[in-house]
Amino acid sequence: MSADSPIRQPVFHARGLTKTYTMGEVTVSALRGVDLDLYAGEFVVLLGASGSGKSTLLNILGGLDAPTSGEVACQGHVLTGAGEDALTRFRRTSVGFVFQFYNLIPSLTALENVALVTDIASDPMAPEEALALVGLSARQHHFPAQLSGGEQQRVAIARAIAKRPAVLLCDEPTGALDSQTGVLVLQALEHIHHSTGALTVVITHNAVIAGMADRVIHLSDGRIAREVLNPQPQAAAELRW
Ligand code: ADP
Ligand code: MG
Repeated sequence: MSADSPIRQPVFHARGLTKTYTMGEVTVSALRGVDLDLYAGEFVVLLGASGSGKSTLLNILGGLDAPTSGEVACQGHVLTGAGEDALTRFRRTSVGFVFQFYNLIPSLTALENVALVTDIASDPMAPEEALALVGLSARQHHFPAQLSGGEQQRVAIARAIAKRPAVLLCDEPTGALDSQTGVLVLQALEHIHHSTGALTVVITHNAVIAGMADRVIHLSDGRIAREVLNPQPQAAAELRW
């Protein structure tokens, strides 16, 4: 296929994903057949009630978990059935994760927390550059305990993107924050999305955040209930909580 082919190749291509958890005699169907293509440059919001399967889906896309059935590929590489070494390489080089709780190392400064990741990446940004992207240049020598929750989350975002991943997967990144601080985190994600072009997927149960997305995917009971394309996404600063 020529480089100027009009056919867009998805970054993620998933078909028939199911996930069943069995605990004793109880089985839970977390995903019940999800088909999904996600494209470079998109800002996607995964919206759904608690328990609808959002985290399960994101973890499978990011190679943290495997589906019970179905197939998922990222940039043409099939993840399903790949060995642990291949999945580790995939996570290390291609995926930035941001979780609700920031998982920073308390005894390291902001800069040192980011450098932990850039030290093992192949073509990383300088940690200073990653912190500048989230507006924290002035706080790089502070320890997590000296930063607000929103600032800690922005350090976590800097850490996630410093290795220049193709995809940034965020699971409830503002879930532990008040709305004013949450907006600053969303603005950081928005800025990074614009400046790096990374496919960005944000899980939330806050419908207001969906206003930022190019595409909103509604999950309900382990299935995609509907998808809405948003030709004119709102700026994070203009979201009304
Ligand atoms: P969401 O992120 O939308 O809140 P999850 O993907 O975390 O939903 O969970 C979907 C369903 O799968 C829920 O019913 C949840 O209890 C169940 N589930 C998730 N992870 C596990 C697990 N490790 N073991 C058992 N059940 C799980
Ligand atoms: Mg979840």
